[in-house]
Amino acid sequence: MAADATIELHLPQDLLIGGGASDDLADHVARIGVERPLVVSDRFLLDQGPAGPLVERLQASGAAVAIFGDVQPDPTLANVEGALQALRDHEADGVVAIGGGSPMDTAKVAAVLAANDGADMRDFKGYNQVPGPGLPLVAVPTTAGTGSEVTRVAVITDTERDTKMMMLDDHLLARVAISDFKLTLSTPPELSANVGVDSLTHAIESYVSSKATVVTEMLSLEAARLIGRHIRRAIHYGHDEEAREGMMLGATLAGAAFSNASVALVHGMSRPIGAHFHLPHGLSNALLLPTVTRFSVSGAPERYATIAREMGLAEEGDSAEAACDALVGELDALNRELEIPTLSGAGAEREHFERVVEDMAQAALDSGSPGFNPRSATREEIVALYEEAW
Ligand code: NAD
Repeated sequence: MAADATIELHLPQDLLIGGGASDDLADHVARIGVERPLVVSDRFLLDQGPAGPLVERLQASGAAVAIFGDVQPDPTLANVEGALQALRDHEADGVVAIGGGSPMDTAKVAAVLAANDGADMRDFKGYNQVPGPGLPLVAVPTTAGTGSEVTRVAVITDTERDTKMMMLDDHLLARVAISDFKLTLSTPPELSANVGVDSLTHAIESYVSSKATVVTEMLSLEAARLIGRHIRRAIHYGHDEEAREGMMLGATLAGAAFSNASVALVHGMSRPIGAHFHLPHGLSNALLLPTVTRFSVSGAPERYATIAREMGLAEEGDSAEAACDALVGELDALNRELEIPTLSGAGAEREHFERVVEDMAQAALDSGSPGFNPRSATREEIVALYEEAW
């Protein structure tokens, strides 16, 4: 970063972190003046997960609550339109998102559409394209993964064009984010693994990104430290509260880091996988992470070495080369242990892959994220990396 550059940090106005923090959801909703909230969540979380009890308490507080529960994983334009319609029908004055990245992203985009008459969400794609602020949003994550509660990002799938649209804009920030690890205690091992590696990818990519600042570096490194030390325990021993707390805090810090420093090549390449093969977001990141890290370390060996040391994989006195080897080795080992499949193992069809791989590489480049990678990748190199992950 140039010595005279201004450091910018864009975060939700209020951030509440800790076990039990979501008990005060209704107070926060009232405090920011929302009387007619629309809750955006998904069916499972409302019927069997932690969203149900939260909604009941919100209703008991006297707020006029309506519910939109039709968000699917990797939400689509139709999901956002459904939430927008529900907002209008209820004449809602605010939104409460409860769930993983999918309900939070759906809520973010519906909230800005509701307050920007006539806007087309396809025009929000890319950087700083949202015309104005949205309805106030309270974001309550139930996965320790995306960090969407603190990011100015939303990812919506355009099913007609088979693309995952990434939108980054300050208007997508929640007004209040409530990061409560207790809501993640019910995430089963496979989901915990996918979302945990997603957060680890955020921590690593934001640290090596060419847009990192001294502030995001602190956030990225603490996230890497927390995730590196807790990820296995959180997955294998889901009721280990200390491990879940470490993962939730790590996910939120990593979100704050990448939202301000960007992600890089892994995320650029993972979105087209999600769009074409409909794999969960965390999984498509996870299956690329070791391969893409192996490719990228030569672009910033000292930075990757710092990540390795922070994760407890190398000592201060170890060379950068040894630390980078330890990092790549750990990412490979983690994928094996967590049974993260290859692309073919995840069910992708070879014929489909060959038909779209060039387009996927182009879409990765077009997203802009690979431009922040410490080692730049050509279209041909990205195709080769997809082949390696096959
Ligand atoms: P998700 O929201 O898609 O949820 C996946 C599944 O997990 C759902 O079936 C859900 O019901 C279940 N689930 C959620 N919480 C649970 C709990 N506590 N217990 C049991 N089951 C639970 O998953 P996600 O990985 O959190 O979000 C992925 C989405 O977020 C993708 O669309 C991705 O592109 C996006 N994303 C957004 C950002 C951002 O900054 N906005 C960052 C990364 C990814």
